[in-house]
Amino acid sequence: MSAELYWKDKRILVTGGAGFIGAEIVRQLSHLNVKRIVVLDKLTYAADLRRLDSVKDNYSLKKVALEDSSAVQDAFQEAQPDIVIHAAAESHVDRSIDGPEDFVQSNIVGTFNLLHAALSFWTEKGKPSQFRFLHISTDEIYGSLGEAGFFDETSPYDPRSPYSASKAASDHLVKAWWHTYKLPVITTNCGNNYGPWQFPEKLIPLMVANAIDGKPLPLYGDGQQVREWIHVTDHVSALLLAIEKGSTGETYLIGSGEEKTNRSVVEGICDRLHQKHPDKKTFSDLIAYVQDRPGHDQRYALDASKFRSKTGWSPKNTFEQGLIDTVDWYVENQLWWRQIQAEKYHQERLGIF
Ligand code: NAD
Repeated sequence: MSAELYWKDKRILVTGGAGFIGAEIVRQLSHLNVKRIVVLDKLTYAADLRRLDSVKDNYSLKKVALEDSSAVQDAFQEAQPDIVIHAAAESHVDRSIDGPEDFVQSNIVGTFNLLHAALSFWTEKGKPSQFRFLHISTDEIYGSLGEAGFFDETSPYDPRSPYSASKAASDHLVKAWWHTYKLPVITTNCGNNYGPWQFPEKLIPLMVANAIDGKPLPLYGDGQQVREWIHVTDHVSALLLAIEKGSTGETYLIGSGEEKTNRSVVEGICDRLHQKHPDKKTFSDLIAYVQDRPGHDQRYALDASKFRSKTGWSPKNTFEQGLIDTVDWYVENQLWWRQIQAEKYHQERLGIF
């Protein structure tokens, strides 16, 4: 079945649709012929409705915290979803070190409430076989790798930060709702996303912003931590394929194969800025090594062969080109992140214990 046919007339509930990845989900869905998109979002500091400007009237927003069980149930009655895409979460590791309670509430209790409401709704509708609940998770639940090897879907869970522990707990709840109740769930785990509209506390936008302003580029520890980077548009195209072609009850790792040290990412940013501003002094002189994050994982890398062979997906962006485009976007959209810096994030160091 073609993607157009699959998505035609579907009603979709997207949690966290005002966030970085959730908004890209809504943007991509708005190009498909879906019937209705309802965004459920608590509108925390990380939310920004400007991410949805290009979607205009193709979605409706319900301001709901997933911790509010009855509001979540009401949202199902209003949205009448065929598909639930669960992207809402507290998502920043450093903030989870400073304030783990929010992560337990949003990521664990919130996911429980969503599953509970989804199961009631799905049962009330006669358990339609086409119903899907996609749970978006992270590679961080597997812990840390050494220099070699990859995580795959059979790797043991070994979360090491309050963030990854709360995501691991949410994964377990989702899987339990499949095994126990046969709720048609799919879980995906993915590496570091990057691209336009990312909240400027995350590595790439933070470094671009600091470099433009001539401020230090703080690299945690020795800067040799390795992450697998994926462009947010590629991640979201994979998520939509997981819904279309994935099997219920399954977990899929979505990986780009683009492993980079934090140091090399920051150097790539500096190189691009230098190309744009050859008159300025070397941006990489601003790199400053700072105290490491407690419990900082050394390396994540994914074996995505199960997902790729199931769906035929591959990423469209190389990291090299994707990083150039992303740096350019932050250079051209300074108004957006400067306003966030002025109003709700003052580039303070988070997550030191
Ligand atoms: P984000 O922080 O940019 O956005 C999260 C959104 O969820 C925000 O709009 C926020 O208001 C909303 N939200 C938070 N708590 C909520 C609650 N209790 N109830 C309702 N809404 C709530 O996060 P993101 O980067 O877009 O990540 C989306 C999902 O993808 C998360 O589940 C995250 O764990 C997962 N993920 C992210 C990455 C990444 O690199 N960003 C990688 C892998 C997986």
